[in-house]
Amino acid sequence: MIDLFPNTYSKFTCPKCSSTKVNVSDFYFQGIHTLADCVCGSCNYEFITDFPISHALYHPISIGKKDFQLFDEHKVKWFSQPLLDSFKHKNNTDLVIEKKIFNQKKEVILLNCLDNLYGHVILKLFNSTEHINKFPEYGLIVLLPKSFEWLLPTGISEAWLVDIKLSETKNWYLKLDEFVKTEIKRFTKVHLSLAFSHPDFSKINIEDYTKVNKFNVETYLDNTPQLTFVWREDRFWLTNIFSSFLFDLAENISELSFFKKWLTLRQKNKANKLYEELKKEIPNIIFNVVGVGKSFKFQDGINDCRQTKIDKDTEMKWCKIYSESHIVIGVHGSNMILPTALSAGFIELLPQKRFGNILEDIASDKSARIGMFLSRFVDDKISPKSLAKLAASMFLVFPFIELTMSEKYLQHKNYDDVTMWQKYYRDKVININAKKI
Ligand SMILES: [Zn+2]
Repeated sequence: MIDLFPNTYSKFTCPKCSSTKVNVSDFYFQGIHTLADCVCGSCNYEFITDFPISHALYHPISIGKKDFQLFDEHKVKWFSQPLLDSFKHKNNTDLVIEKKIFNQKKEVILLNCLDNLYGHVILKLFNSTEHINKFPEYGLIVLLPKSFEWLLPTGISEAWLVDIKLSETKNWYLKLDEFVKTEIKRFTKVHLSLAFSHPDFSKINIEDYTKVNKFNVETYLDNTPQLTFVWREDRFWLTNIFSSFLFDLAENISELSFFKKWLTLRQKNKANKLYEELKKEIPNIIFNVVGVGKSFKFQDGINDCRQTKIDKDTEMKWCKIYSESHIVIGVHGSNMILPTALSAGFIELLPQKRFGNILEDIASDKSARIGMFLSRFVDDKISPKSLAKLAASMFLVFPFIELTMSEKYLQHKNYDDVTMWQKYYRDKVININAKKI
């Protein structure tokens, strides 16, 4: 964390002359961005710049206050351009901000979770755990879109809930800045959380956030095999180059809704086919579809848990389903963070153009070989038949992996009886070659 109030972090570099003699006179809570108001001690250039937190820890943006010059060293346009637009058009509309105080402290850490992307908000919020555990002497204040209130962990001292659509967090809200500046006067010291964009999941108990226990891998073989397909109607499972081309076209020219409808229909057919193929391998499989959108009906046997409107109850219901799923399957970018945090395993369909974004929307905390076995990334051109084979193998081969490669069964000690290995093998391990998986 870094200082915000009453002293303010000032290790900045002038974007004009590269001097590190920079004076900070103020700070701004824009929305996504938390900014320092700076003047260069060498060339007098006046600029605003990101505090090095969250995505700005890696690529901070600066803007000249008078000439509106944008300094975006790493050319992260998705991050810099909306900031420049918001700086030019500040918004003075009223904003409803609810303040919840659980445990008042004098010295606090402020965690800004505002973001226009659903996954980014959750990932920033996950930083709470380490602050609560490592710095109990400080209170933790979470600045969060109101719609994420259901994920607030216990142990925070305050929540500042902004009633705002995610897309609106890109705006520069003067009322948000006013609110924060008024509130922080209540404290003797305020620090800013670094709000890592990809916090360490091994240090997080997802239950603290979702209030739903994640799948216990020790019980993998005890429950009826269950698979959940994460559905979106703006991200598609595209099995050929032609449909990829149409999707890119539809994405770039947002009016091409006909193609999206066609792609949704094709995706529905593929989900049906996946279910049919899986049933051949695992006749008692429970197959759920969860996500946003209600287009088209699935075939009988598929549990259609999709919704068009997402609220707390829907989110909680979906979390319960993920937590009971051996495997969740989804296309990269389908809000896979909560599904992969709660399920035993996952298969992510990763388009080639997203190979560079691998792991970004995965929250699995599994380690060692069981973790590798339960974590799969496949090209999104995979056919329903191949995907069914892969998913089936994750059910059917699991016993062999657990018996021969898991920590649980690889213990050197004095045993009176070692027949449990043979018994396990006889009872649960299938002959993989005979099964032709
Ligand atoms: Zn300068």
